[in-house]
Amino acid sequence: MPAKLYFLSNMAGLYVHIPFCKQRCVYCDFYSTTDTALQASYVDMLIAEAHNRHGEIAQEFKTLYLGGGTPSWLDTALLVRLLDGLRVALPLGGVEEFTIEVNPDDVTTCYAEALAAVGVNRVSMGVQSMVDDELRFMRRRHDARRVIDALAVLRNHGIDNISVDLIYGIPGQTMRSWQHSLDQVIDMGVQHISAYNLSYEKGTPLWLMRQQGQLTEVDDDTCVAMYRLLVEQLKHAGYEHYEISNFALPGLYSRHNSSYWDGTPYLGLGAAAHSYDGEVRRCNIADLRGYMHHIIDQDVAYSEERLSPSEQYDETVMLALRTARGLDTSIIHHRFGQDIYDYLMLQARPHIAAGLLTAQAGWLRLTPEAVMVSDNIISDLFR
Ligand code: SF4
Repeated sequence: MPAKLYFLSNMAGLYVHIPFCKQRCVYCDFYSTTDTALQASYVDMLIAEAHNRHGEIAQEFKTLYLGGGTPSWLDTALLVRLLDGLRVALPLGGVEEFTIEVNPDDVTTCYAEALAAVGVNRVSMGVQSMVDDELRFMRRRHDARRVIDALAVLRNHGIDNISVDLIYGIPGQTMRSWQHSLDQVIDMGVQHISAYNLSYEKGTPLWLMRQQGQLTEVDDDTCVAMYRLLVEQLKHAGYEHYEISNFALPGLYSRHNSSYWDGTPYLGLGAAAHSYDGEVRRCNIADLRGYMHHIIDQDVAYSEERLSPSEQYDETVMLALRTARGLDTSIIHHRFGQDIYDYLMLQARPHIAAGLLTAQAGWLRLTPEAVMVSDNIISDLFR
């Protein structure tokens, strides 16, 4: 496998956060708002922030990702205005992968035309389940039929690189209903699947429902069985398991998300967006009005944290080991020196002996048996 030269990467990613949702899902703790009155002003602030930060990343942008919230809930005319403005502010001429997150319910013929016109070539659809009762429980606004229709509309407009998100461990979900969702997305022939275990985040309606005894949690053993089924079924269907939660047909990995895991610098614009250049992490304020006030008053809306060498090491190890590609230990040696390299190999030794890590040609990788306990193994390698 070719070694990636961490600091010599000539590519970068651009993330733009669109924090608007039509309604809030029960499990969600991302920053978003259902108040759309400020959409136009927010777009202007995003463009202003892009101008203000245009010199921050030296590398050429190769990927552009509009995430949320629900970017497809942004008015179409504003989407065009946003893209026009970003292209003036930043060098986006070399972008090769342009992804937008959509809710299936928003994908009309007009909308798909607009996506194709602004250059979107990859869509990430928040499907979550192909079982209507599960979708209703999570307060998703689409049903399974809308997913199939949205996919057809996108493909009719030449957008045929589609990723879907799925959730397992939903109260009421069974192995059989999970199998049904997997069968459906495989039958749809999507190029990429991300699947996450439902988590109970403090402050969400889901958390409250559990506190009040209004739901029965799916037990841990069943969640593990669901994950195993996911891995087996997708492998059987020809998907490569390239990150703990991500699967793709060959050659169709998410380039943008891969940049988070392999150390490629990225710039994040908008409320709650994060940026990272390999040493400094910048986090924009997670509040729409606060963000806009900061951009007007101070040009930027972030607080920044310079990671210590130890923190950079931990981050590099954690992100790389989540991927099938693994951790190139020569990078650890090159960036952090002999002592840290020796420390890593010493810490890895018992896990290698236990068959949970492999060390081959300078790469450390988790074995399939280790994926369910990956957090423990990775934290053992931390400084
Ligand atoms: S659509 Fe996405 S961002 Fe909005 S509430 Fe649901 S999960 Fe959260």
